[in-house]
Amino acid sequence: MRRLVLLFIFLKGSFSLFAQSLDYYLPKNVNYNKSIPVPATVIGHEVGEWHVTHDRLVSYMKAIDEASDRVKLQPLGFTNERRQQLALIITSVSNHQRLENIRQQHLQLTEAARSGSLNVDEMPAVVWMGYSIHGNESSGANASLLAAYYLAAAEGSEIDQLLEKTVIILDPSFNPDGLNRFATWANMHKSQTQVSDPNSREFNEVWPGGRFNHYWFDLNRDWLPAQHKESQNRLALFHLWKPNILTDHHEMGSSASFFFQPGVPSRVNPNTPARNQELTGAIGKYHSKFLDSIGSMYFTKEGYDDFYYGKGSTYPDINGAIGILFEQASSRGHAQETENGLLTFPFTIRNQFTTTLSTLAAARGLRKELLNFQRDFYRDVQKEAAAFPVKAYVFGDENDKAKTDIFIQMLLRHEVEVYQLKQDHFADGRTYRSSSSYVIPTNQKQFKIIKTVFERTFDYKDSLFYDVTAWTMPLAFGLPYTEVKTSNTLIGSRIEKLTELPQQASLPSNAYAYAFRWNEFYSPKLLYRLQSKGVAVKVATKPFKMNVNGKEESFGFGTIIVQAAKQKMQGENLARLIEDAAKGTDVEVYPLLSGLSSGGIDIGSASFVNVRPPRVMMFGGVGTSATDVGEIWHMLDTRYNVPVSIVDVDRFGAINVVRYTVIIMPSGTYNNLSKAGQDKLRDWISGGGTVIATEDAVKWLSVNGFTKTIFKSSDEKRDSSIQLPYYLRSDETRAKDMAGSIFEAKVDLTHPLGYGYNNSSVSVFKSNTLFMDKNKGPYDSPVIYTDNPLQSGYLYRGYKTVVKNSAAVNVDIIGRGRVISMVDNLTFRAFWLGTNKMFMNAIYFGNLIN
Ligand SMILES: [Zn+2]
Repeated sequence: MRRLVLLFIFLKGSFSLFAQSLDYYLPKNVNYNKSIPVPATVIGHEVGEWHVTHDRLVSYMKAIDEASDRVKLQPLGFTNERRQQLALIITSVSNHQRLENIRQQHLQLTEAARSGSLNVDEMPAVVWMGYSIHGNESSGANASLLAAYYLAAAEGSEIDQLLEKTVIILDPSFNPDGLNRFATWANMHKSQTQVSDPNSREFNEVWPGGRFNHYWFDLNRDWLPAQHKESQNRLALFHLWKPNILTDHHEMGSSASFFFQPGVPSRVNPNTPARNQELTGAIGKYHSKFLDSIGSMYFTKEGYDDFYYGKGSTYPDINGAIGILFEQASSRGHAQETENGLLTFPFTIRNQFTTTLSTLAAARGLRKELLNFQRDFYRDVQKEAAAFPVKAYVFGDENDKAKTDIFIQMLLRHEVEVYQLKQDHFADGRTYRSSSSYVIPTNQKQFKIIKTVFERTFDYKDSLFYDVTAWTMPLAFGLPYTEVKTSNTLIGSRIEKLTELPQQASLPSNAYAYAFRWNEFYSPKLLYRLQSKGVAVKVATKPFKMNVNGKEESFGFGTIIVQAAKQKMQGENLARLIEDAAKGTDVEVYPLLSGLSSGGIDIGSASFVNVRPPRVMMFGGVGTSATDVGEIWHMLDTRYNVPVSIVDVDRFGAINVVRYTVIIMPSGTYNNLSKAGQDKLRDWISGGGTVIATEDAVKWLSVNGFTKTIFKSSDEKRDSSIQLPYYLRSDETRAKDMAGSIFEAKVDLTHPLGYGYNNSSVSVFKSNTLFMDKNKGPYDSPVIYTDNPLQSGYLYRGYKTVVKNSAAVNVDIIGRGRVISMVDNLTFRAFWLGTNKMFMNAIYFGNLIN
């Protein structure tokens, strides 16, 4: 909003190579309000002359907010690196004066019972413009400077009508931490003299690059799982406004041109209505007209799809909106030679800005269609939900309350209505207790979200996928759930927001020992908190029973005990320390007043084994996959607060490894691990170390003779009499990919890697075509895929038999140490919580395996 008119000293950059003045970008024959600062006066350079850093981007958005009464700045929150996420709400001055009314009325379009009386003739369309979720695809965020300027400064009837008929939510940077990392890289390598050679350092970021957020996650996969701050902050505003269009501006390879949706028609998720794609096509006509006018090349309907709802251009499609993906050929740095000639950064920015304008023109031109579509979408949802055979989903795990809570939190972020279970419900051989279980009726507004979160999919129109093919969330979370098919009496009170976790009951100071079970999601967090305070702990390698407060409690494999007499800290101090450590973990600690059990082992038994505090190193850097390293880092750091030292593969030869008890090898090629480094690793393992390897690292360890793991290959016989048309060759290869599906494995609950699991059936995410044979020893393959393992997702026919009964985890003993080979990703995208425990077991109890 206008508060003061700022005076700026106009800066003239000395690096003017490829700098373009505003005239290059902006529509011709438009007058601009002189009191609105142009970007250069705030950010210190012309748009496209340098890569804008996030702090300068924020400064400009704040300056626009101050200078214009068309603009209101909306803070969203902060990223991991404490950068501010914000959006500008841009509309006419008169709309701003009744903005809350407009919003309330707009939301009624999504209420089937109330939307009938609305007159869309007078309602503005809501358009969310979003940029550069991949931080190193920065032409989008740089174009947002122009979008903010144009929308605040342009004068005349064209802009007046646009602002009267739309409410624009301008989100200049979907991924602030990544954008800033990349801008720093591109700027620090810029020369005064033109260097456009693609080999130059400017165009080749170092690992992990600016694509990702702080923890090296791809935020454009997190819209549905919503496990990251950036997504959580953004979704809160998304549902406050429920836009009609949401744009997602990206970049692709430097030799391409420009892509806008619609994507490949056969790869649209079946939960997305056909009308969505028709409107996407109608919006596309505006993009083509605008790009034609500046002579830019483009393509549609090839390559990109609308299948996985975790992506920014697909999530809106299940929320009554139209998501639009844009992909611009990337200059990476400031200007790069390509097959199609010199590609300059300003040129890429101009295409992103031009398609920003075409989207807004489409929103204005198709306003009534978009608003009617949104209303119809939610009416149709109501009909679909009524016809859907499942009337409710019941879920919950009384032995894993925190994980149940994380699942509910995820659903609430999508405005799904969740209710407490009213009465105990018996299904599929288990009792869902009303105290720890929840129910989601399907007959509600967010039915489509519920459907995609719970459904298992097996049939696909197409066999090529841009991303994962299945994401059945309760399987990923490892949560028991059941379908209810008759109208029911199970619905209790609505969960609006999760209440604080119950506090640990006060512990007596005279206990003989304290015990807690391993099945809660945060049990490893409590364990590390105790260890970091110097508390000595043991783990039960056999089960036992004990009377606690007059009730017999069963304690399974993996129960942790603190023997009071063995501690430096005693009595009251010890009891308070344990109480404190248990706070916020949902783990219940039991005081044991005697060492004598009422069944199984006693507290002084040798079957309680010391648990060492883990000292963890993880390989990172070139030779490893940044997202795989990031997922493990994120889990250890944010879920369990266990410190991990990330060491670059090529530095391993130079460090002292004696201080570590565990070395993690995330998926990677490791072809830069020197011979000396390999010998050092082998010696360290033989001396008693535990290596945990995942995916490609498992293969590397086998090929390099660390393990005896043998891989199976596809059993498909090529029929040499069939000759295929040449144009199908890349499709045929890609159909053999495992883009990401869900398989059932059986875990040995008595094995240290199986501690804390209540059920031997575990759902594992698989996105590679590595299939391990079981190791020779009878105890060496504690997790094995079942006879008929596919639970959800696409599976190429050639892998149907090889995956059966293959090993998910193998153990190889080397000297006094061991290698734990996990062929799949047990920490996938921060929402595959069901297999996190197995990974933590490898860290904590790996050294018990012999
Ligand atoms: Zn991208």
